[in-house]
Amino acid sequence: MAFINIPKGKQDRPQDRPCNLKFKNISDIKYWVFDLDNTLYPSHCNLFSQMSSRMTSFIENELTLSQEDAFALQKKYFKDFGTTLRGLMENHNICPKYYLDYVHDIDLSIVESNIKLDQILQKLPGHKYIFTNADRNHAQRVMKKLGIEKNFKDIFDISDGDFMPKPHLSTYQSFVHRFGIVPEDSIMLDDMAKNLVPAADLGMTTVWIMTDALWAQPDGRQGSVDKVHYQTEDLTAWLETQLCPS
Ligand SMILES: [Mg+2]
Repeated sequence: MAFINIPKGKQDRPQDRPCNLKFKNISDIKYWVFDLDNTLYPSHCNLFSQMSSRMTSFIENELTLSQEDAFALQKKYFKDFGTTLRGLMENHNICPKYYLDYVHDIDLSIVESNIKLDQILQKLPGHKYIFTNADRNHAQRVMKKLGIEKNFKDIFDISDGDFMPKPHLSTYQSFVHRFGIVPEDSIMLDDMAKNLVPAADLGMTTVWIMTDALWAQPDGRQGSVDKVHYQTEDLTAWLETQLCPS
């Protein structure tokens, strides 16, 4: 089976070019590393807007700030620390579990079950893992809503990485060490292009799940343009193409 499949009409984009691809066949992939949010479900579900509102109200309540000031601090910590949580932990000694439980207490009704994705995941060879900046409980809820939870061997969440979010290299090192993953035998899929940089640096093949979000695009300043080996707007269709190339 040929592994490579680049969408027609997009061959001129630099991130479409395969870079040092090691897999000739899909059966060569031993480890599948999936991000969760906006990767396993479509970004139009916009769960982040619910989480963002809850982050703001959490900060309002805990730090006794106006909504406007709370939102500004939320964004500043996201920019400065990689996650709002990290800034709250460093500067305000916030208990991460308390914050994560609050922020992820959201309505998942917009996330539809994805039977096709479930069927494809069952057919993919190799072990599948979730590698997320969210928490385990949220990952389990989302996977259950999608109906795909039985396909995954394990979850590596924000607490497993000692609350250092992707794309901190140390978190990727902890992830591969925890599960005995061989990066060269792995493929990682994520909607944030910058999260693919350490994965590629470790030797993984990468797939960018394209969204319209500006902060998720490949960016030369992050070094992510050359670290995106494949891209697709539709995870399920892309995986199916790998299983059944035309
Ligand atoms: Mg994501």
